[in-house]
Amino acid sequence: MSATHIPKPIPLPAFGLQHSYAEALPQLCVPWRPQPVATPRLVFINRPLVAALGLPLAGLDEATLAALFCGNVLPPDARPVAQAYAGHQFGHFVPQLGDGRALVLGEVLDRAGRRYDLAFKGSGRTPFSRRGDGKAALAPMLREVIFSEALHALGIPTTRVLAVVATGEPVYRERVLPGAVLTRVAASHLRVGTFEYVRAHGGLDELRALADYAIQRHDPPLGGCPDRYLRLLEAVAARQARLVASWMAVGFVHGVMNTDNMSLSGESIDFGPCAFMEGFDPATVFSSIDEWGRYAYGNQPGIAAWNLARFAETLLPLIDDDPDRAVARASAVIEALPQRYRAHWLELMRAKLGLAEAAPRQDAQDEQLSQDWLDLLHAQQVDHTLAWRYLADAAAGEEVRLRALFPGQPGLDGWLARWRARCAAEDAARPTTHAPGPERAKRMRRVNPWIIPRNHRVEEALAAAEAGDLGPFERLLTAVTRPYDEDAANISYAEPSPAAFMREFRTFCGT
Ligand code: AMP
Ligand code: MG
Repeated sequence: MSATHIPKPIPLPAFGLQHSYAEALPQLCVPWRPQPVATPRLVFINRPLVAALGLPLAGLDEATLAALFCGNVLPPDARPVAQAYAGHQFGHFVPQLGDGRALVLGEVLDRAGRRYDLAFKGSGRTPFSRRGDGKAALAPMLREVIFSEALHALGIPTTRVLAVVATGEPVYRERVLPGAVLTRVAASHLRVGTFEYVRAHGGLDELRALADYAIQRHDPPLGGCPDRYLRLLEAVAARQARLVASWMAVGFVHGVMNTDNMSLSGESIDFGPCAFMEGFDPATVFSSIDEWGRYAYGNQPGIAAWNLARFAETLLPLIDDDPDRAVARASAVIEALPQRYRAHWLELMRAKLGLAEAAPRQDAQDEQLSQDWLDLLHAQQVDHTLAWRYLADAAAGEEVRLRALFPGQPGLDGWLARWRARCAAEDAARPTTHAPGPERAKRMRRVNPWIIPRNHRVEEALAAAEAGDLGPFERLLTAVTRPYDEDAANISYAEPSPAAFMREFRTFCGT
């Protein structure tokens, strides 16, 4: 075949990409190119996200989109870099990790002026690849789509997926798998591990440059403050406390909360082996490599605090010239974390219980009520999602579905009586013109999802996608992106995974 038969790629429009990270912190990244792939095929594109970011993709055909979102062609203003970072993995410090299979192409501003990184994952080896091949497999990339869109639909901050392209190339893991490249959108890729990298390898000036960049990117109001580095620690801690509380409220298990997977932006990130807990048990662990349950559901708030303590350590020389004073000031922030987390968690529990934000507040009583409810769920490993959802029925006086979840549970009646008394006290304090029961049920159904990505559904969808059928993936994605809607069309997505399936179910990092 002569060269004239090779179709010329359509020249791509500029994306309006900026490169504030690479310009401010050139010592923390390496310019690098994605590795071309054989036969790219677009398997997912996030049209609402394309629109929100205002990307100029209109008029590009599918082949061009596939070539673009695997890195075979790049927008003229892309300047891809691999970022350096370190991290504590399962408690052990690794001084150099970095983007071993990822590249940040640049930053876009969305229609509201918010800055986001556009990044590839699975785009080939980089100087940080160590022993890895730099590749990603199709199923774990589609998994990231399902879970990030589910979290987003639940109102939980998360990185999102713009596109997934199948490469047509094999990826060698325990099995030979179809390869893929994913394009991620993230408020930034500043990680706790980025700070750990600079502390391990850089000097004070580099640390200050990184912290100032982080402030400018995520907390610009702190810019002029004399104690801005302590305030940065507080701001990151506040975002993490809120994030982890919101995971806990929906039963999300991140799975690999290493410090390199904790973002300064407060978004969920790098949740490769994540899954939603089904039957309630704080010891729930899915990740095949988490042998000791370090990242179990119930450990997540404590691990977040541990990671933030590692972050605080990196900031000490900036917080105060006097080392003892720096430690005292940073420790005060870390020690306040459990209380901060608890406050966010209680707010979420109160909403899930159908209690309005109005007076009279009874925090200690509400905390006990919430904890006792979870203890009831734990006693019989009741399905977490359905229990909350059916409690909304009970607010409207319909208890059949709820009671069926707690067969022979002697504690349920007593707990329901306390909850009803609590609701009645609130209603007496704020009389409404509506019937309080149905109104409360409606409120509860807006915060207690009907649909989460059920593990058997996720596995089924990914197995079908690997075999070439994207139908189950697309239907599951539709279901998880409207988690509060209860109707005939999505009822099969609300059903818990079979018990036998859950006993064997493990997740993998997808590396
Ligand atoms: P993760 O578990 O995805 O957060 O990745 C942890 C570290 O391993 C990061 O530095 C990744 O870039 C690197 N890594 C994971 N998978 C691969 C791979 N297939 N090739 C090269 N590096 C990888
Ligand atoms: Mg990671």
